Amino acid sequence: MFHGGGRLAPAEVPRPAAGPGELLLRLRGCGLCGSDIAKLADPGARVPAVLGHEVVGDVVEAGEGVRGFAVGDRVVAAHHVPCGECHYCRRGSESMCRAFKESNLDPGGFAEFVRVPPPNVRHATFRVPDHLTDEEASFVEPLACCLRAVERARVQPGDTALVVGLGSIGCLLVQLFARAGSAVVGADQDAERAALARRFGVQAALPVEAVGLARGTSGGRGADHVMITGGAAAVLPWAVEAVRDGGAIHYFAGGAGDALPVALETLYHRELTLTTTYSSSPATLARAFWLIAAGKVDVEGLVSHRLPLERLAEGVDLMRRRQALKVYVTP
Ligand SMILES: [Zn+2]
Ligand SMILES: [Zn+2]
Repeated sequence: MFHGGGRLAPAEVPRPAAGPGELLLRLRGCGLCGSDIAKLADPGARVPAVLGHEVVGDVVEAGEGVRGFAVGDRVVAAHHVPCGECHYCRRGSESMCRAFKESNLDPGGFAEFVRVPPPNVRHATFRVPDHLTDEEASFVEPLACCLRAVERARVQPGDTALVVGLGSIGCLLVQLFARAGSAVVGADQDAERAALARRFGVQAALPVEAVGLARGTSGGRGADHVMITGGAAAVLPWAVEAVRDGGAIHYFAGGAGDALPVALETLYHRELTLTTTYSSSPATLARAFWLIAAGKVDVEGLVSHRLPLERLAEGVDLMRRRQALKVYVTP
């Protein structure tokens, strides 16, 4: 339970029950996401709250009228579901839909029992095939966010994509950019993380070298896309150096920085595009589930730490200190 001020402590809460159209899951495991860490630091976050949304669980109750799932099924379930009908949804801004922001798992993924509301059951829950491990299945939600980012970037074959930050998200993004037909270069301050990313068949190096690699794959122009997964506003001047004239810089993550350190004249004369991407959609969740089930995206080696629920706070510290690539929490 998150009580504000960065404070996390185990708590007893009533076990939820599955109402009509709902599922009750007994948690098998839940990935710890960078956005959970960001919420812990957010003074405006609603508290008390249970975080966690990369959920794998067993169905222990199926409410009246549930179709397609039964007690005993192992499933992944995502937390946010848009209405599919509003102005935002019809224009591809699903994660800005008001219903999306209000939807959630009850009480959250870091709990022994998780209630999945009806829209989530219908649009964001998938039965896990036997050949996938729980940990592999837990990557459906983060992969869906990455997929939506790459789709919004409108990558074309022959583009060069530079991915900044090679944590677990960066390692998913490099694979998706490669699948979209672009040459991919990863950049990270940590040489070990760059080495990990190279295992996925892409070039990766320290940021100073990565700029040169991106020039090399782009005929000297620079990267068509720079995707920033960490480092906040401070990375922007470097990204402006690395991107080609007319290229795009995409922020996958927020962070500190009230003002962006780039001159308007630079943006204008070089016709640079600065965009952001936030969360997933039911369509990208379905595609991400397929990619993982079909083995088209490799998540091996991305979970670096496994911790029980009551030691979640340790996992948060490991992520904050950048000692953990990905923490997977089990009850
Ligand atoms: Zn996540
Ligand atoms: Zn909507």
